[in-house]
Amino acid sequence: MSDYHKNEFIGFGTCAPPNVIPDWLYRWLFFPPIKTDKGVPIAAPYGLRKIEAQLLSEGFNVLTVDPDHLKKYIGKADVLGIHVMDPFGLGPASSTFASVLKKEPFLAQHFRAVLGRPDVREAKKRGLKIIVGGPGVWQFHYRPEFVKGYGIDCIIEGEAEKVIGKVFNSALNGDALPQYYQTSVKEVPSIEEIPDIARPSVNGLIELGRGCCRGCEFCSVTLRPLRWYPYEKIMREIDVNKAGNMNGACLHAEDVMLYGSKNMIPSDEKLVRLHELVVKRCEGICWSHCSLAPIASKPKLFSKIAEMILQKQPWWGVEVGIETGSPELAKKIMPAKTYPFKPEEWPEVIRTSMGLMHDNQLVPACTLIVGVPEETEDDVIKTIELMDDLRNIRSLIVPLFFVPMGRLKDEEWFKETMMTELHKELLIKCLEHDFYWVENLIGLSFAKKWYAGIMRPFYKLFVRIVMQKARKAETSQIQTVSEK
Ligand code: SF4
Repeated sequence: MSDYHKNEFIGFGTCAPPNVIPDWLYRWLFFPPIKTDKGVPIAAPYGLRKIEAQLLSEGFNVLTVDPDHLKKYIGKADVLGIHVMDPFGLGPASSTFASVLKKEPFLAQHFRAVLGRPDVREAKKRGLKIIVGGPGVWQFHYRPEFVKGYGIDCIIEGEAEKVIGKVFNSALNGDALPQYYQTSVKEVPSIEEIPDIARPSVNGLIELGRGCCRGCEFCSVTLRPLRWYPYEKIMREIDVNKAGNMNGACLHAEDVMLYGSKNMIPSDEKLVRLHELVVKRCEGICWSHCSLAPIASKPKLFSKIAEMILQKQPWWGVEVGIETGSPELAKKIMPAKTYPFKPEEWPEVIRTSMGLMHDNQLVPACTLIVGVPEETEDDVIKTIELMDDLRNIRSLIVPLFFVPMGRLKDEEWFKETMMTELHKELLIKCLEHDFYWVENLIGLSFAKKWYAGIMRPFYKLFVRIVMQKARKAETSQIQTVSEK
């Protein structure tokens, strides 16, 4: 439970394992504890706030508490609800870090620590029910012993607004709970059935909508229907955050550029109106995700939005899935991600959009997917070549090992032992790119903060360690090959 120095993207640091930076210092650098009032956090993850709002609307007595302060409250609780993003560090970013640094990521250690707390164990003995939800619950399918060992009573997978009250009621009445509850299509809430958050979210994050219609094979989001919130709902949630002194807004959607659109072409009217309203109301803006094709397809619209945002701030950030530099692979695993362009045009779409982002002060944290089952050597070579083209674009580019999700959920995990020389070359290229830009990005992220100068060497040290480890892995692989 952290606000990552008020920068969502620094939160990626939780995906790394312990390293040469002492743990206490690493925590302060990447995930310092959030401020609380007697253990009640000033802000909480948005998804948790939605569940809290739903339970409050159904009359439950609910309190969101910082895990570090559970002891004060757990004695009176009948049910403990936990929100997880990446409980075992199996998500793409953490499993990639874990493979390179060969240790369990921080977020997995911290999750286990919450359930292992003596006060939680004590409460469990007297009958506390534990219910877990959040985007990372798919990982429990790989850890059945953990579920048993720590006495987790119910794991809810999917959007839970329509079912959470029923499950909590059963828990309070002592009825049997299903170990896994996968919400059905019928239980997916409509926009009207999704409550507004009642208390502030971390870094003012608010949803613009849910779902995505691009249908990438490796993604689980795509299995959910697309719904956009109306302006009024978004403004009401911004006001909730502002009442709690969260004066900025992190606009969250799978593709912010498509806000209000019924297809994959941006709606000029909706996107401009949204930003007019948000810019007027908020002190700062960031986007959670956007895709590249809408920017390349409507460069004027993108520049207009950028101009509006830059009235308030010198830059803004977003997460972007590049996935591959290979048109052939794009065609196989994400043909609609390139729309309205053809998959054959994907590398050019990437270069154009990334160039526009650079010119308009939007800083992307980009991901590449490594080791997807259909990938060939030629695909990896094309992605390596793309990295050269992106050298001068202010960005972070992170390669993520393939994790079986979405329609590819039955495929094999990509592991470090499966890395070829080409994969390693790509990994090094990405690290070199990030190392080249990291100083600039730290300067942007911590401008005007008194501790910027203190933090900079540690962030650089961290990137250097990952680079050294990756290079070492490369050397040992070469040695092994020559010994053979
Ligand atoms: S990867 Fe992104 S664009 Fe593709 S389906 Fe998932 S959310 Fe949509």
